[in-house]
Amino acid sequence: MITIQNNDGDRRVLVLDNPFALDESPDFPEYLFDVVFIANDSVEETKTILNSINPVTSTKCCYKPLFVSASLQGKMGSYDEIIDGYSDNWNDMEVLTTVENIINYNTLIGLAATEDPIMSSNQFFIRLTRYLISRKKTILEPKLDVTASTGYVIPVFDLFYRLGQYELSDYFVFLQSMAEKGLFRASKFVNKVYLCPNCLHSHLLYIKTCPKCGQSSVHTEEVIHHFRCANVSPEHTYNFGGQLRCPKCHKILRHIGMDYDRPAVVYTCNTCGNTFIEPQTQSLCTSCHKLNDVEELIPQDINVYEITSEGKQSIISPNIGFTIYTEFYDNYIEFNRFVSRIRLLAEQKFSGNIEGDLLVGKIWILNEEGETMAIRPEAIELVCLYFPNNKVSAANNIIYVGSVIREHKGIDTEEEIINFQVMMSETLRAAVSILKPGETICYNYMKLQGNQSTIDDFIKEMEYISPTPDDTASQETEHTQAAPSVADEIEDM
Ligand SMILES: [Zn+2]
Ligand SMILES: [Zn+2]
Ligand SMILES: [Zn+2]
Repeated sequence: MITIQNNDGDRRVLVLDNPFALDESPDFPEYLFDVVFIANDSVEETKTILNSINPVTSTKCCYKPLFVSASLQGKMGSYDEIIDGYSDNWNDMEVLTTVENIINYNTLIGLAATEDPIMSSNQFFIRLTRYLISRKKTILEPKLDVTASTGYVIPVFDLFYRLGQYELSDYFVFLQSMAEKGLFRASKFVNKVYLCPNCLHSHLLYIKTCPKCGQSSVHTEEVIHHFRCANVSPEHTYNFGGQLRCPKCHKILRHIGMDYDRPAVVYTCNTCGNTFIEPQTQSLCTSCHKLNDVEELIPQDINVYEITSEGKQSIISPNIGFTIYTEFYDNYIEFNRFVSRIRLLAEQKFSGNIEGDLLVGKIWILNEEGETMAIRPEAIELVCLYFPNNKVSAANNIIYVGSVIREHKGIDTEEEIINFQVMMSETLRAAVSILKPGETICYNYMKLQGNQSTIDDFIKEMEYISPTPDDTASQETEHTQAAPSVADEIEDM
């Protein structure tokens, strides 16, 4: 059952006792409730409900106060991190106070309740960090957890990692990038750990192997040094019927320290018989099962991070997503730099320094009314991924991809242009997943022609979208018709 009740503070409480696809349901829009109450006494069922109805990833419950049954106190494990209180009565004094504190603080810092569905790891990190700010939990402290992927985890992050919200590589890049930008501060060094280079998990088994054959069946043995004749060899070579006798001079050994000593330990391989001083240490990853030399492991500093006051402001601001995502991609550049680069390349082309073609691809999203939509960080992210060797930029509700197709021996520039078009079309198809129903994603490309005097016109034209795009995609077309083939596109030219 799911209902909306008024509490004594005149806030509207959404009460539910069973799993419910709240975000997908048209019946309970975000603006109808201020607080969430999960009235279920089962730990497992409440966890299932929280997997989708929580103040971080749910689009409708984002940052809203959330309570679960009083009987679950102390039983929710890491889910406790996203629960504001345990109670069976939304008019408890303590509950009312908590609700008012959270709602008023969110209003004070300007944290809007409405959020889009999460499409990428980075978008998730911003959402989670905003949630932590809204709960004044600005210190991110890693804890050792035997069941966690990286050994040390920030519990609230790890809760969502287990729900598949992000990739470990993105997680480490996020922390580092936030620290570099001054939005997080590493306030305390905890430890330096070594992670599997393949999957970044920390649960590794260390194995000593024979440097000759690589097998791990090795045994150790002490080495004996006979002072009298200076013989040095493994202990077993001295063993004659239970007595220690020198294999070189055949004297019986009597007192350690007087006539012999044991200066070292040697390893002997049970597989190939090789004797060696230093075995090779390898690590076997219990997660991906890859065997690596320990020198190849990835060192990772584990720190306590604190969200700085500058960080709090930037992270709350609606533009943060844009700044953060673009920081992750080397090929993204600011629009004014993109324009100067295009201008420079155009001048070089017309002065004969570059033989070839200069292309600018433009991608934009239209709503049902045919108006351009603001750029979505996830769309930029996608374009950066699809064009790793091109410069990407965004402005004027358009995402830009620059491409220089140089004329070389054996390179067919026409074919290269078609490849560029095909990649643009593929990017559109991939971007359909971030569109809302009724939206269309479009592209067209411009090819620099003319002479020196037309450069300004070319740059001016970059600001505009074409009424006749080269290709489009939407959720509807994906379901009903196949993508145009390469052959069709050649005919279109
Ligand atoms: Zn061996
Ligand atoms: Zn001897
Ligand atoms: Zn691994």
